[in-house]
Amino acid sequence: MENSLPAPWQKALDQIKTWARINSPWAIHYNSGSCNGCDIEILATITPRYDLERFGIKLQGSPRHADVLICTGPVTRQSRDRLRRIYDQMPDPKFVVAVGSCGISGGAFHGCYNIVGSISEVIPVDVYVPGCPPRPEAIIFGVAQLLESLKK
Ligand code: SF4
Repeated sequence: MENSLPAPWQKALDQIKTWARINSPWAIHYNSGSCNGCDIEILATITPRYDLERFGIKLQGSPRHADVLICTGPVTRQSRDRLRRIYDQMPDPKFVVAVGSCGISGGAFHGCYNIVGSISEVIPVDVYVPGCPPRPEAIIFGVAQLLESLKK
């Protein structure tokens, strides 16, 4: 149906969709094998003290409704297929934020028998937030960088 719109209308519709996406991205959080340190920091970002929701971001549970996957790693053999499935269930366009050194490189778990590796070895990653664990400010900065890149 969108393809049948006149070009100026289609352009306006695309601009509205981009505006809505930037101002109210829905995010899903997935732990693909981290020690929970990064996950606790992610949860801290949605508390009133750090208030991630001021960017219009809403954490919710279904990948089918999510624009952004906030993932902590490393990726274990057990969770590799789940991570891939969650990513595949998200509608396009979709974006991934890898939080923590383990998600970026395997970190402290690099080389363990049950570890596949970093998140980017399983799904494409758009933003990396380093740290062990990264502070809530760093996670918010990473998400803000992602939203800023969407404007372009
Ligand atoms: S980066 Fe640090 S806090 Fe995060 S999962 Fe790895 S060891 Fe845990």
